[in-house]
Amino acid sequence: MKKISIVIPAYNEEGNIRVIAGVITDIFQPLAYDYELIFVNDGSTDRTPDILHELSREDGHIYYIELSRNFGHQSALKAGMDCARGDCVITMDCDMQHPPHLINDMLAKWEEGYDVVYTRRLEDKRIPGFKRMTSRAFYKFRNKISDIELEEGTADFRLVDRRVAQVFSSLTESDLFIRGMIKWIGFKQYAIAYEPGERFSGTTKYTVKSMFNLALKGITSFSVSPLYIAMYIGFIMSVLSSLYLPYVLYSHFTGDTTSGWSSIILTVVFFGGIQLMILGILGIYLGRLFIQSKNRPNYIIKETNLS
Ligand code: UDP
Ligand code: MG
Repeated sequence: MKKISIVIPAYNEEGNIRVIAGVITDIFQPLAYDYELIFVNDGSTDRTPDILHELSREDGHIYYIELSRNFGHQSALKAGMDCARGDCVITMDCDMQHPPHLINDMLAKWEEGYDVVYTRRLEDKRIPGFKRMTSRAFYKFRNKISDIELEEGTADFRLVDRRVAQVFSSLTESDLFIRGMIKWIGFKQYAIAYEPGERFSGTTKYTVKSMFNLALKGITSFSVSPLYIAMYIGFIMSVLSSLYLPYVLYSHFTGDTTSGWSSIILTVVFFGGIQLMILGILGIYLGRLFIQSKNRPNYIIKETNLS
């Protein structure tokens, strides 16, 4: 019998865990698959770990991985995927926003021979306009400057075959942007669109700051073109400033040199800004290189009942 692993990261999700565990158990009851449900407790400070211990004692299909602190959604996902033992691995959120009934469609596509079945979130009218707009702009910009294209709304709700999971586990980058990495790995991929559900309990763990960080990772860990953009800006600016030269010389020879204060201030401020921006872009890449060179693991497991 084929075995399916379901990996669910949980960060302060005490109100959701029993609900989603119940729903998934119901989905697998009539199916001819063996399954394991792996919860990754990403350093929760509420009753999440207690509930996971109880559940795993009650139900032999349920396992937990406890990380030593909060490592973030992407690292928690990787921890679960690295430990999963199934013939395919399904990852999903804990809060019921990823409709569990889609698992049936994913498994059907997998049986048809697809190695990756990922999902795309259709536009959700309940999400604030600001979040929708920035998300759309991010995917547009990202796809322009990167070779690996990602459809708008690509979610971390997906099924990957064991082979893909193994390749993914072998990647040692410190900056995780999993939806991009899976796309990069390739194999036969299939996309399913879905209407996101309502968060069952609790509130979102993604702040504007962490969304911005994820977006930045999605750009800088897949493309070096911002570095080239910086170079182009520098080049265009130096061409433009050389056009200014004849005017400077002309003013000098006509003796009209003291009245240029405002244009000097303008250029100093303008070029100062451009230089800082370019230094910033360089700094981001240098920082990423620094973090990567330390070769630290993406997560640390404190305790687990997976052997
Ligand atoms: N999550 C996590 N670690 C974190 C933040 C979130 O494991 O530091 C989990 C969270 O428990 C949930 C999933 O990642 O299962 C998605 O988080 P959330 O629903 O808060 O994000 P949103 O759907 O609002 O983007
Ligand atoms: Mg959510």
